[in-house]
Amino acid sequence: MATNRTFTMVKPDAFADGNSGAILSMIEKAGFKLIAVKLTKLTAETAGKFYAVHSERPFYNDLCAYMSSGPIVAVILEKENAVADFRTLIGATNPANAAEGTIRKIFAKSIEANAVHGSDSDENAAIEGAFFFSELERI
Ligand code: UDP
Ligand code: MG
Repeated sequence: MATNRTFTMVKPDAFADGNSGAILSMIEKAGFKLIAVKLTKLTAETAGKFYAVHSERPFYNDLCAYMSSGPIVAVILEKENAVADFRTLIGATNPANAAEGTIRKIFAKSIEANAVHGSDSDENAAIEGAFFFSELERI
């Protein structure tokens, strides 16, 4: 994946609340192009693999249960400076600390149920995109 791409998920809380469309609309209005989109559901096991980097953290088991609690929308996005610009658009992990107007400030319920995922590096954006999409599933 090129370095101008990032990966996001609409997490189960935001999907269940019917906010997927509003969130994707905000993302497109911010200048990101949709490269691949998939409505799917993680199991505790696949959520555990996706978040393996956090396996030693105290919130890991709860996070895996939460991320497998309902459907998610997985999306690859493209924009110049995609990873950093997307982190700015979504805001801080804890919505209590997220800036006004950010996706997490608007839609997140808690530090765990925080509406969206955003890759933290070009390397992880490529790994995370490949976790959900084959080459044939990307435009
Ligand atoms: N998380 C949590 N408790 C914490 C920190 C994180 O439940 O104290 C969850 C939250 O859903 C977060 C995810 O674990 O989005 C991954 O954590 P990370 O630190 O990578 O935050 P992010 O990159 O998503 O902002
Ligand atoms: Mg992270």
